[in-house]
Amino acid sequence: MSIAGGCRCGAVRYELAPDRLPPVYCCHCRDCQTWTGSAFSQQAVVRENDFAVTTGEPVLFELTNRSGSISRQFVCGNCHARLYNTNSARAGVVIVRAGTLDASDALEAVLHIWTKRKQPWLVLPEGVPSFDEGAPAEAFLNLVMGERR
Ligand SMILES: [Zn+2]
Ligand SMILES: [Zn+2]
Repeated sequence: MSIAGGCRCGAVRYELAPDRLPPVYCCHCRDCQTWTGSAFSQQAVVRENDFAVTTGEPVLFELTNRSGSISRQFVCGNCHARLYNTNSARAGVVIVRAGTLDASDALEAVLHIWTKRKQPWLVLPEGVPSFDEGAPAEAFLNLVMGERR
């Protein structure tokens, strides 16, 4: 496994398999803006079996989404960087905060969602699928998981 990432302080590190950067989707919703303190979140969907924490032990923060699903958020207990989460509505996968990957400068965004909340100054590239709100499940999985499904 050679794709790795971790929190700001280095107390928690993780690795992904296979050794290819996963595509990411960007969510422009208000919750993501508030939670990241930024314009949007960048996330990669990785099979649970292809994800491993290699250093440290993340702290769990659990919440119930508006939809009723349980979101389990894993953060560094020291610097409080949010690293990844699982969701009861989406078994078997881990959603990685892609900005925590070491190679975050090489990420490819394949999908934008909740663009109706997008910051007005942000211009999205043409040809990348985008949705006003959430993407339909099938389209979402095809774009972010592709042949890894
Ligand atoms: Zn940390
Ligand atoms: Zn969002």
